[in-house]
Amino acid sequence: MLYEKLKPAIDKILAFHIKNAPGVIMGVYMVDYAYELMDSLYPDRDSYTLNALSETRVCLIDSIQVMTGCTVGNKYLRLDALDIGRYALILYNRDTGSGYRVYMDINKIDKDKYPQLYAFFNKSRDYKSASRKKLSEETISEFYRAERSVLSYQKVKVNLSAKDDIVAAAICVSCGESFLVSSDTLVDKPMCSYCGRLALGRFVPFTVTEQ
Ligand SMILES: [Zn+2]
Repeated sequence: MLYEKLKPAIDKILAFHIKNAPGVIMGVYMVDYAYELMDSLYPDRDSYTLNALSETRVCLIDSIQVMTGCTVGNKYLRLDALDIGRYALILYNRDTGSGYRVYMDINKIDKDKYPQLYAFFNKSRDYKSASRKKLSEETISEFYRAERSVLSYQKVKVNLSAKDDIVAAAICVSCGESFLVSSDTLVDKPMCSYCGRLALGRFVPFTVTEQ
């Protein structure tokens, strides 16, 4: 049973995530699996720099961040490389690019044996049949029965450079704050995209209500 081994990580990440989400628990199993595969390639975890790619921006990334120390903040976790919403992650050696991709394998989820788990990934959960909480609990208990049997893996080579590109910064002529230059920043009159949008009367995600 993997459950005994993973229970401490599950408790820790659910507390970090605040919400009781099935995806967090599945994420713990997925990261554990990928890590174990990496151990077969590189038995000494201290001998290399581990990096991660997530193909989704939901629950899974919290499992990756807490279990591996690869975070959005330290940039060892990349979310932008393949942001397509597949429930999948890659752990890899930053210097060699070699790693493993672990994914939720829909073909392995038996619809009759694991109906809620199946519905969860086919976006066919019937919220009228039971409360969201009840459906989540059923999804979780089905996953605990399935464990790794619904996961698959691939050996991969990651084609991203280990070094970060240095992005130039400029001071916005409107707000006076430092921002990262993009391809459409004017060199002689740099303006951040927030101020640029305001100037054009376009949508901005927030407005300042008190200075
Ligand atoms: Zn500005």
